[in-house]
Amino acid sequence: MSQTVSHLLGEEHGTFRQSVRRFAEREIAPLVDAAETSGRFPVQIMARAGELGFLAVGYPESLGGGGVGLSFECILVEECARVCAGITSGMMLQTGLGTALIHKFGNPEQHANYLIPALRGEKLGCYAMTEPDAGSDVLGMRGTATRTTSGYRVRANKVFITCAPFADFIVLVVYTDAAARQKGLSVFIVDRHQPGIEVRALRKLGHHSMETGELTIDCEVPAAALLGEEGRGMEYLLQGLEKGRITHAARSLGVAMAAKDLTRSYTAERRQFGKALNQFQAIQFELARMEIDVTSAALHVYSAALKHERGERSMVAASMAKVVASEVAERVTSRALHLHGGYGYMAEYPIERLFRDAKLYPITEGTTEIQLRTLARELGI
Ligand SMILES: Cc1cc2nc3c(=O)[nH]c(=O)nc-3n(C[C@H](O)[C@H](O)[C@H](O)COP(=O)(O)OP(=O)(O)OC[C@H]3O[C@@H](n4cnc5c(N)ncnc54)[C@H](O)[C@@H]3O)c2cc1C
Repeated sequence: MSQTVSHLLGEEHGTFRQSVRRFAEREIAPLVDAAETSGRFPVQIMARAGELGFLAVGYPESLGGGGVGLSFECILVEECARVCAGITSGMMLQTGLGTALIHKFGNPEQHANYLIPALRGEKLGCYAMTEPDAGSDVLGMRGTATRTTSGYRVRANKVFITCAPFADFIVLVVYTDAAARQKGLSVFIVDRHQPGIEVRALRKLGHHSMETGELTIDCEVPAAALLGEEGRGMEYLLQGLEKGRITHAARSLGVAMAAKDLTRSYTAERRQFGKALNQFQAIQFELARMEIDVTSAALHVYSAALKHERGERSMVAASMAKVVASEVAERVTSRALHLHGGYGYMAEYPIERLFRDAKLYPITEGTTEIQLRTLARELGI
């Protein structure tokens, strides 16, 4: 971690970082090649992460969690993403928005059936909001849940859904009253394997170790599938926005950090014109810029996380962290690939994976333009 950021965090953060780094290097790293090549998420990592308490870090001790703040969750995400962003995105999803919604708004039965097994890594969920014609414009969605005598008839087509191909349950956002717009959205927990749900796996540029799918849903669900109250979905989702953006920025930071570290080592070893690459001033300047970039991203991530942890409103800090860290990840991985020369372009070197993975970050968890829109509104621009 950069010296510039260490002053923000305490000794306990350092100890926690070491334990996560050990876990990532010993337990995630050996799975990466096979998962990236096969395009299959290594589900076995979930039980292990659950056993070690990493999935429940930010949840109360009563749920088997660590009861610690968001800065610790960011360390977890950053350190795991340094090793593999794809596997990390699957792990994060189990502790992220969908699970957080069940925790906050679920009833004891939903906690027992979904939340507790998810935090133990025993049941895996996915979070389905995006539709083919409704991405940034969430309210443009067409998915609906219509009341029946015993529950709801759900019809929806959801796309780009992380973990959908192997998930046990779906945290699904649809309209229960489309005319009411933001007051008409509701959240349901739907068992993925029930009849009437089809999933199509999608191929993509990066994050190959994380499976992504399209869901076609036309099924009956019981009334007990509703999370919280009808029509309050948007209100619930907004409560998770800041945290989602900050942890997403931590993932970008981990990828940028890995690319920077690999480039520091590679340019120290690779010799051309009779000396190591890092002896050329042009290369030293590139490495110095990478250090500035990762430090800027880290400052944004951890100051936003600490602000959120103190219970302060942190939408501006969260959106800034998301934009800065995702742009840093794209820039640093691109320069890192370049400084590895032809080797950087080869799949045998991890740089090309980091480069492909980083392309995702300005798109998910609210695109860069959506963050800028938030900032313009929040800052009165
Ligand atoms: C690998 C992957 C995993 C994902 N996982 C999930 C998941 O688990 N669950 C889920 O629900 N979704 C998921 N998503 C969806 C993701 O959140 C959306 O892709 C994202 O919200 C953008 O929506 P879109 O793709 O429809 O792009 P669009 O909204 O169509 O945007 C296209 C472009 O237009 C820009 N744009 C849009 N509106 C404006 C505006 N008002 N002003 C200026 N520019 C604008 C955008 O910034 C973008 O550059 C995932 C996506 C990917 C690629």
